[in-house]
Amino acid sequence: MDGSLAARDRVGIQDFVLLDDCTCITAFMENLEKRFNADLIYTYIGTLLVSVNPYRELDIYTRKKMDLYMGVNFFELPPHIFALADNVYRTMISEINNHFILISGESGAGKTEASKKILQFYAVSCVRTEVLDIVRDRLLLSNPVLEAFGNAKTLKNDNSSRFGKYMDIQFDHQGAAVGGHILSYLLEKSRVVHQNHGERNFHIFYQLVEGGEDELLHRLGLERNSENYMYLVEGECVQVGSINDQSDWKTVRKALTVIDFSERDIEHLFAVIASVLHLGNIHFEASRGYATLNSSEEIHWLSKLLGISANLLQEALTHRKIEAKGEEVCLPLSHTGLKKELLSDTNKYFQNVLLQDSSRKTVIGLLDIYGFEVFDVNSFEQFCINYCNEKLQQLFIQLTIKSEQEEYEMEGIEWQPVPFFNNKIICDLVEEKHRGIISVLDEECLRPGEPTDLTFLEKLEEKLAGHPHFVTHMLADQKTRKTLGRGEFRLMHYAGEVTYSVTGKKETATTITVSSRLIYMMLSLFNVYFLECILINIMVGAKNICIQVATQFKNNLFSLTQILMSKEPWYVRCLKPNNDKRPGHFDDVLVRHQVKYLALMEHLRVRRAGFAYRRRYEVFLKRYKPLCPDTWPNWKGTAAEGVELLVKHLGYRPSEYKMGRSKIFIRHPRTLFATEDAFDIC
Ligand code: ADP
Ligand code: MG
Repeated sequence: MDGSLAARDRVGIQDFVLLDDCTCITAFMENLEKRFNADLIYTYIGTLLVSVNPYRELDIYTRKKMDLYMGVNFFELPPHIFALADNVYRTMISEINNHFILISGESGAGKTEASKKILQFYAVSCVRTEVLDIVRDRLLLSNPVLEAFGNAKTLKNDNSSRFGKYMDIQFDHQGAAVGGHILSYLLEKSRVVHQNHGERNFHIFYQLVEGGEDELLHRLGLERNSENYMYLVEGECVQVGSINDQSDWKTVRKALTVIDFSERDIEHLFAVIASVLHLGNIHFEASRGYATLNSSEEIHWLSKLLGISANLLQEALTHRKIEAKGEEVCLPLSHTGLKKELLSDTNKYFQNVLLQDSSRKTVIGLLDIYGFEVFDVNSFEQFCINYCNEKLQQLFIQLTIKSEQEEYEMEGIEWQPVPFFNNKIICDLVEEKHRGIISVLDEECLRPGEPTDLTFLEKLEEKLAGHPHFVTHMLADQKTRKTLGRGEFRLMHYAGEVTYSVTGKKETATTITVSSRLIYMMLSLFNVYFLECILINIMVGAKNICIQVATQFKNNLFSLTQILMSKEPWYVRCLKPNNDKRPGHFDDVLVRHQVKYLALMEHLRVRRAGFAYRRRYEVFLKRYKPLCPDTWPNWKGTAAEGVELLVKHLGYRPSEYKMGRSKIFIRHPRTLFATEDAFDIC
């Protein structure tokens, strides 16, 4: 390990848990940068792996390295993604339980690369099967398709993933891969109907319009000009320098065939995309509380592409009672019927990566998901993403504390945890029944009459006044008030403060409510086709309509946490060193921001809540026995007795360590460093 003084000076410390002051972000940053400059992109926080994108090929993923990391103890070699992968695999086999590896970070931080490295490692290290190769190939091939439907240009990133991806590999009891599948979920669906200024809709829309073959566009009733479609121009940035929609179209078109989509499926898929575009162009007019529309062209195409009669569409679009109570949000039955029919034969897409099944199996899941997002203006999308991260943090806390406690119990030692912040209070603030933000949002949207952004805020203020993690302009003290607009609320997330704006586009309520109904239907189709596997029956609205979108997101997230809850967690946190993809350049401000919003300091505190360091007696004795004449060279007693002698000889104070059944626990890294340094000198 990098314990000795000289080594620490040169390459930093390989585990942040061993940093002297774990509350100090400056020390954390120094260590990270020092390592980055020495091309050491990986550092641990306990068993969590922090990775900094080097933006150049490093010679650390060779077959030789893979062999090196196979079957070796976590701390005996420099930190590596292979070490993590290997440990997960071996723990799964020895304990016969399920695991997941959560990989998070900003777009461009290296998440997809990390999952590829893990799969490549398994392809070499696991009991070899063809299935594993197929899973890996499918994963790589499906990537352009997933990105076309799930990525978009945002203010920060021209190719930002707006969804999470979960894949898992199933192993039989001998550790051979026997199956796997890829699921995508938590797609930021509202983007289909609303984009902030400077952002685009999902890539696929532009790719189809700009790159689709003449004949295809003709069949879909589309013109070759993105500017003609309302859903593509809201952000006013159809053209993006770094994106070539035409050539991307070709890649995606080819990938669709390669990953086993039939021609019929593909045709279906394009019909839905085209329908969304036509739908966006339907023009509504309000007349005494009722909507009328004058868009026979669009209706014609929608009817043709979806196979719904024009009359039915017309009716669905115009017969909505503005004043009806409660019923307003329900889809007419005819649509439900239609939806079901389409659902049944389209549901298979992403499950088609599902391979053979076996009766007795354990699973390693890989979850690739966006981290906290904080922009200058944060809207509903950021609210959902950040809430998702808040939930995942809660899961981490629950699982970590649980496993810590279990370990201490198993080892038969008492412990007094160091306090750390438990973010349950923030999760509750968002999701609690009746008074949580999501609940208030639903209520507001369901209320007859015209909900506005401000009535929503007022309701929140009424219910949440005095909450330590919620503040608005009206609730704030004088100093804070200056920093908050009337149309904003601020949440004190576990990772820091984020101010959300609730003011949206000004549209008449009629326009919004009427179009939203068909949007539900369309988006349900959109989801089923592409990216929704966990909860299919989704109702979605645009920002500012928001009827049950948040609730839907919440339920979706709940299913995800249920899936994860039953597994043992491992974490990879990816950091982006600079915004220009420049090798060797470490932008302190940028990285600090990510360290904050990936809550690495919080992670560190949770890890440090117990004992910083623990080692099996055999391992500890083997390393340090040269420091004690009674144990070296040939110790005859048990390892535990040897360690007891050793630490007495080294002068450990009783408060500094505890002897468990199979391990020694050391409270503070300083103790260990003193030992390492002594070791160095001798
Ligand atoms: P994300 O999935 O987080 O958006 P990617 O994994 O696609 O990011 O990484 C973006 C780019 O950064 C990759 O295309 C690659 O060029 C570079 N990169 C990421 N991780 C590594 C790595 N470990 N070694 C070398 N280059 C990397
Ligand atoms: Mg990615």
